[in-house]
Amino acid sequence: MSNQDLVINDIQIDASLLEARALRRCRTEECQSHCCTGGVYISTRQADDIRAHAHLIQPHLPEERRNPALWFDGEAEPDDDHPEGGLVISTRVVDDPTHPAGQTCIFLRPDRRCALQVAGLAVGEHPWRFKPFYCALHPLVYVEKRLVLSEDSEIYLEGGSCSRPSEAAPVPLYKLFDRELKLVLGEDGYAELECLAASG
Ligand code: SF4
Repeated sequence: MSNQDLVINDIQIDASLLEARALRRCRTEECQSHCCTGGVYISTRQADDIRAHAHLIQPHLPEERRNPALWFDGEAEPDDDHPEGGLVISTRVVDDPTHPAGQTCIFLRPDRRCALQVAGLAVGEHPWRFKPFYCALHPLVYVEKRLVLSEDSEIYLEGGSCSRPSEAAPVPLYKLFDRELKLVLGEDGYAELECLAASG
């Protein structure tokens, strides 16, 4: 653990998230979903929940991707970082010649929107109701059990970053990505992070 790392709710947080940068978030209309090219690991509990609500998700996918038996791939395996513990499984990756990478997660629609997020919104629920934890968390990631901002991945270097330069005053990263941090830390944990940041 770095001397400057923070620990909240037993979660190790990279201190660089307290840094202020002249950045803004990417916007939905700008996003080309580079991060969806390789699919994602999802808890088996959440995968079961998605299958159980298949009727809500299928209308938002191209016809050839609507069979729930196609949605996940490979063997379930342990993942120590996932807050639910237990096992994770991968979403299936399919060919997509319209995407710069030539392949995408099966849930990424041709309009570059995630069918799981679209389905949640369509039934009036939170946009992350069906979204895999790691997808909702992005661009924050776990690296060796530390929560960090992903900045130098291959995806980012190819232009798939989730942040953009901003003309406005620098803003602390933990404020820029507050929704993602609240997902991990909860409202109380995020308030603790704000206190720690304010105390310098
Ligand atoms: S589940 Fe959705 S957000 Fe996650 S990789 Fe697939 S398309 Fe992208």
